[in-house]
Order: sequence, then structure tokens, then C-alpha cells
Amino acid sequence: MITFDRFPDGKQFCVTFSYDDGPSEDIRLAKLFNKYNLKATFNINDSFFKFNDVSSLKTRYAGHEIACHGRYHIPLNDQSATTIINEVFEQRKMLEGYLGEPVCGMAYAYGLYDEKAIEVLKKCGIVYSRTTGSGNMRLPEDFMKWHPTCHHKSGIEKATAFLKSIGGHLVGSRVLYIWGHAFELRTEEDWAMMEELCSLISNNDKIWYATNIEIYRYTMAVKRLVISANEDIVYNPSNIDVWVSHHRQPVKIPAGQTIKL
Ligand SMILES: [Zn+2]
Repeated sequence: MITFDRFPDGKQFCVTFSYDDGPSEDIRLAKLFNKYNLKATFNINDSFFKFNDVSSLKTRYAGHEIACHGRYHIPLNDQSATTIINEVFEQRKMLEGYLGEPVCGMAYAYGLYDEKAIEVLKKCGIVYSRTTGSGNMRLPEDFMKWHPTCHHKSGIEKATAFLKSIGGHLVGSRVLYIWGHAFELRTEEDWAMMEELCSLISNNDKIWYATNIEIYRYTMAVKRLVISANEDIVYNPSNIDVWVSHHRQPVKIPAGQTIKL
């Protein structure tokens, strides 16, 4: 029996963060994530460039993912395809020009979207998009409706429950996905809470710390695995090493290789 419930190195727990809008408070937040070896995705809009030099984009978020949020922070429900294309496709071109790499992730402005928006976004090359809904601790069924676990105001409570589940009886993998806005961290008490959350969840060798796009790419590589009818041979056609459970034990399927279990 093969089960797809493993992250890199056979881990079953994953933590990710997502912060939109910025821009100035993101500097302090990125430094806090760096201090605790955490990974985040930062969704920016054109306001970033009103207050910052383009050259700071890469350095400020080094080690994290930069993703779309729409150029003008327009809610994407009830919009024409043209508006969505101008808002997102044009932003991709701009960000990719600055960063020199594909930018395929997104978070919905105001958390708003509809099925038509999703259809257009997929054609614009967006592969996942984060909502503002509260979800569970699972990977999303649909990456275009990626509901985070919680806002950071509930972060310590959820992180405590998440950590408690490590070592407990586990059914499937678990993802703790925390979102928020850096500008919501207004007082030193707010920052102390954020630091407590980061400290609580960090440097645990049972947890894979990843950006949103890293989780998406890893999951897609797992979905591409080719398994023999007897479930004893597995081929990994991707360029990413992946892990699965074979009779509940972690097994590595190296990139491009065929493994006999
Ligand atoms: Zn926003």
C-alpha cells in the first residue's frame, strides 16, 4: 500500500506563512522569519514600488517567495477577463522582469474570487492562489482555492495544537498555513506575539519549512508518480525527489528514477 502523505525527508508536517500588501513592515517581518529559519510567501502589489526602489525587491525577501497579489489590489470577483488579465498577467510580466524567474503564485486581494476569475488566472499562468478563509491542516484539494489554516491572531493556538499532533496518532500529513498582513503588527506587543509564534513553531526536525510555491511544486511532483499495478515499482518522472509511505514507512523516490519497493 502506497500513501501520499510524506514531505521531503519523509516528514509529515509542514509549516508555511503568507503575507500580502506589505510594504514597509515586511522588512521587519522577513527578518523575523529569517531569525527563526522560517519560510514565507510575500504577495505584493504596485504600492510596493511607490515606496521602494525596485532593486530592494530581491534583497528584502531573499530566501522567501515573491508572488502576485494583483497590481492595484482589485477584488477579482465579478470582473471582466480583461481586468483580470491587466491586474495579474501584467503583474507577472513585471515581477518576472525584476526577479529573473517565473512568478506563478498568488493571493486574492480581499480574498475575493469567483469561478470565472479562476479560469482566467489559470490561463494567465497562475498555479495556486490563497484565500482568506480558514481551512484545516491539510493540503488543498484545489490549489486555486488554497484556504490557509488561520490568521496569525490565532497562530499560537493553532501552532500549539499542530505541535501536539506530532508524535500522536497521525492520519495523513499536516500543514500549518498562517497568513496575515505585516501592517497588522502595530504595537510592540503585536510583534512580541509574532516572535513567540515564530519561536514556538521553528527549528523542529519533524517539520518541513517551505514557501507556498515549494509546497505546490512538491505536491505536483508527487501527483506525477507512476505506480505499477502491483504497487511494487514506482517511477518519478519529475526533477524533484519525493517521498511516499509504503506500508506506513517513508520511502524516497529520487528524481527521474524508477524504484523497486
Ligand atoms: Zn491584500
